[in-house]
Amino acid sequence: MNREEQVKQLQNNAAWDVIIIGGGATGLGAAVDSATRGYKTLLVEKYDFAKGTSSKATKLVHGGVRYLAQGNIKLVKEALRERGLLLKNAAHICHTMPFVIPCYSWFSKIFYGIGLKMYDALSGKLGLGSTKILSKKRLLNTCHK
Ligand SMILES: Cc1cc2nc3c(=O)[nH]c(=O)nc-3n(C[C@H](O)[C@H](O)[C@H](O)COP(=O)(O)OP(=O)(O)OC[C@H]3O[C@@H](n4cnc5c(N)ncnc54)[C@H](O)[C@@H]3O)c2cc1C
Repeated sequence: MNREEQVKQLQNNAAWDVIIIGGGATGLGAAVDSATRGYKTLLVEKYDFAKGTSSKATKLVHGGVRYLAQGNIKLVKEALRERGLLLKNAAHICHTMPFVIPCYSWFSKIFYGIGLKMYDALSGKLGLGSTKILSKKRLLNTCHK
């Protein structure tokens, strides 16, 4: 990629169907979507692609589990729907990843157990399967397989 060459090309092309400002995850995603729909698309980035917030993210499409603890059910449902749609529409770049959350007390077992079961239920048809409560023995057996 040669920036000077691309700026020159820009000056010779006055008409675009879609112009996107900012080449982070949002802008890049929108640009791919727009270009694949056949629109003449321009993506303008001030510094470098994915230099901003997008370079700091874990890249987990976590479906907003942390918003559940804040009681923001509307946002959790929206994030879960987006997660499900991404898995359906972009299966070539998204895959599921199981997590184990350690619980060191009965309170955390109940807290995470109920919370994650609620999270499963909120995902509806776009869910990834049910959260399981594992004993220490079962977890160690699973890890050693
Ligand atoms: C520590 C951390 C962890 C995160 N973890 C997750 C996670 O696990 N899962 C998740 O889904 N999200 C996560 N996020 C959130 C996620 O990173 C952001 O929601 C996402 O990267 C935002 O992308 P963006 O394209 O909107 O913004 P950015 O990535 O910031 O991109 C904006 C771009 O616009 C450019 N720009 C700005 N002004 C102009 C201009 N005038 N002209 C041209 N270009 C311009 C900037 O240079 C930049 O490249 C995390 C964020 C952080 C900070």
